[in-house]
Amino acid sequence: MIYLDHNATTRPAPDVVQAMVNVMSSIWANASSQHGPGQDAKRLLAAARATVARVLGCKPVEVIFTSGATEANQLAVRGLLAAAEPTRRRVLFGSVEHSAHLRLAHALAASGVQVDYMPVLPDGTLDLAAAAALMGADVALVSLMAANNETGVLMPTDEVAGLAHAAGALLHVDATQLIGKLPFDFAACGADAVSLSAHKFQGPKGAGALVLRQDTPLVPQTPGSQERKRRGGTENLPAIAGMAAALELLGDVSLEAQRLAQLRDVLEAGLLHALPQTHIWSRDVERLPGTSYLRFGQLSVDVVLQRLDKLGVAASSGAACSSNGSEPSHVLTAMGVPANEALAAVRLSLGHSTTVADVNYLLETLPPLLAPLLHPELTTI
Ligand code: PMP
Repeated sequence: MIYLDHNATTRPAPDVVQAMVNVMSSIWANASSQHGPGQDAKRLLAAARATVARVLGCKPVEVIFTSGATEANQLAVRGLLAAAEPTRRRVLFGSVEHSAHLRLAHALAASGVQVDYMPVLPDGTLDLAAAAALMGADVALVSLMAANNETGVLMPTDEVAGLAHAAGALLHVDATQLIGKLPFDFAACGADAVSLSAHKFQGPKGAGALVLRQDTPLVPQTPGSQERKRRGGTENLPAIAGMAAALELLGDVSLEAQRLAQLRDVLEAGLLHALPQTHIWSRDVERLPGTSYLRFGQLSVDVVLQRLDKLGVAASSGAACSSNGSEPSHVLTAMGVPANEALAAVRLSLGHSTTVADVNYLLETLPPLLAPLLHPELTTI
């Protein structure tokens, strides 16, 4: 199988699996226990926290382990809002945030919090002028993703940090898609809180963290004594050790980013050449290196995914499934893309397992399958 769905999840690295098996079989005590095995678990937790902090460029005390990015995002928004001054009751969200995060925005709005959305331009980039106009003395928090999971478009988080801080608000960044794909350094970034998820960079699912700048007030959302009282619940040590191992394995992210950008560019150029009806969204703006979001004319994504499946290629649609069938991606809709085009969206996300041979195979096999569908007259000659 050729796996081109790395933005959805990645295969755990063998060293990650090994680290987790080792912890599950030997360091299984509760890190809060006073006895010897408990202290071993506590030491392991501290070592994993130190590794995570070193790789992310933050202090160990700034790491709050969570069950993934969805929880980290919730903790950041609800926890920072609850700790903000009572005069600050407005929250700004990016309009193309991850769907789970937008559900949180809708839930907050339904509970009486004033929520505003920072729009994007037709190329998928943030409309900075519109974002600036939404800032104000009543804003507690701005929540913006670092990179979009569908288009791969990078968001101007440093500029938005400047805008938020000038208005006296905090900035939370959902860096789930960026960390592991592009260099990241918490100390150098402008955000007050950053979410990440281990399964996006060859770590385990159900493991993530909120990195919160030291001394930033936060009201815990799952009270308990763990994580310096910021997130209760017995620590998931195997997952935490797996995440630390995955971060340690990353090495020089920029080298891999270059490799993936080259492969992605070859793939896109080849598809455009063989199938001129191909349209690639956000091609000319700064994107994640391995993400390609495209449509082949207006061929339904189901048809394309079916052909890809036949070829042994796993990819993803941009549409969200609902009880009424498929709905166009909220990201493309926010970019002003009409529904018929958005329903043709296919996401190819390259990653650590992607090779030149994979790209060549796709370029050799996919166009002959799709061309007759795009030129129905050719099949009848
Ligand atoms: N934010 C973004 C941008 C994502 O891509 C994802 C995962 N698709 C999440 C949040 C949710 O992460 P998790 O699976 O760790 O809850």
